[in-house]
Amino acid sequence: MEKLIITTALTGNVPTREHTPHVPLTPKEIAEDVKRCAAAGASVFHVHARDAKGKPTLDLAIFKETARRIKDLAPEVIIQLSTGARAGKDWDARANPVRLLPEMASFTTGSNNLPGIIYENSPDFIRFLAEVFRDTGVKPEIEVFETGMINNALHLVKKGLLTPPLHFDFVIGAPGAMPGTVRNLVFLADSLPPEATWTVAGIGKAEIPLAAAAIAMGGHVRAGIEDNLNLPDGTRATNVQLVERVAAIAGMIGRDLASPEEARRILSLDPDRKDRILAQID
Ligand code: ZN
Repeated sequence: MEKLIITTALTGNVPTREHTPHVPLTPKEIAEDVKRCAAAGASVFHVHARDAKGKPTLDLAIFKETARRIKDLAPEVIIQLSTGARAGKDWDARANPVRLLPEMASFTTGSNNLPGIIYENSPDFIRFLAEVFRDTGVKPEIEVFETGMINNALHLVKKGLLTPPLHFDFVIGAPGAMPGTVRNLVFLADSLPPEATWTVAGIGKAEIPLAAAAIAMGGHVRAGIEDNLNLPDGTRATNVQLVERVAAIAGMIGRDLASPEEARRILSLDPDRKDRILAQID
């Protein structure tokens, strides 16, 4: 089996200090958490931006400062910026994190309900964002909340907008979308073309059980406060504790962790593009 890539989703758009004291919100807090989680075995970091009040934002200055601080504290990790919609609906604003030329960025290829919102990604917007990925050469992580989003991504390959091998992240267990069961995870993984790679992001209580399933299946794992606030015993978790838990399960069943360099090879990332973001943020 390939080594295990642990992605940390540190912040997201939803958790506040009222939800958990452990969520990193400022660029400095996020970068310090990246360093700790990298030491615990994570190699990819899914990054959102928050404004001075802690609200989700697509302000590029904050993305730039966060990336700058991550590169200072953990220069080898893979940075994956979010293009999610809770921080704003403007097409260009959502695409701008991709234009900073991180190694990866998230790309949701469909719409669904999430708590309190319609997570809206229209066919026209999906095509627009796919063109930005094509033009920048940034590797998308296809965020799959429902099975049809896989087909939508494969359609973009047919249209020449995305280049295989694709990397998918199954975000399951969120209220309003596909339930976070092992049966659904197996079905989704079986629905991919053979050359694709995948990660699971179980939401809430599904995070750690689905991590265990993915480790056994040969997939990869996303963990972190964006997706889940708690350890399995119900106590509030730090990002590092969630990474440590996933790493411990992998260790117990004999699956080694991928370094950032190994993760680049597994995800077919061009190592020469590792630091393209530096010219955009300095
Ligand atoms: Zn996110």
